[in-house]
Amino acid sequence: MKQLKYSRQRESIKACLMARHDHPTADAIYASIREEFPNISLGTVYRNLNLLVELGEIQKLRCGDGADHFDADTRPHYHFMCRECGCIEDLPMEISQEINDLAQEHVHGKIDSHITYFYGVCENCMKKKTS
Ligand code: ZN
Ligand code: MN
Repeated sequence: MKQLKYSRQRESIKACLMARHDHPTADAIYASIREEFPNISLGTVYRNLNLLVELGEIQKLRCGDGADHFDADTRPHYHFMCRECGCIEDLPMEISQEINDLAQEHVHGKIDSHITYFYGVCENCMKKKTS
């Protein structure tokens, strides 16, 4: 019974993540999942998110702001993070094989992938600066 309940929560957590594209933290998902499961704890949300990552159903992003962000899109893709507001956007560009090739020149083993985050100031924060 307990197992069933946990998996229902996990499904709701995944559905919640799939419905948004802002790469939320566990706290942000916790805030919205609590509307459906008022007694759920942040720890349970966090545990389920990490389990979903282990199962390969979602991916975890570590952009250097100290928080884990989650993404229901598990396909390899690049992200842009705003230094000012911390928002994370998807970049619909192709994954660069060239970066692997450049790095390969310095590695005796075999490089098969890379993770790169782009940083700067987002459009909204740019507008705030000029207005
Ligand atoms: Zn911003
Ligand atoms: Mn993404």
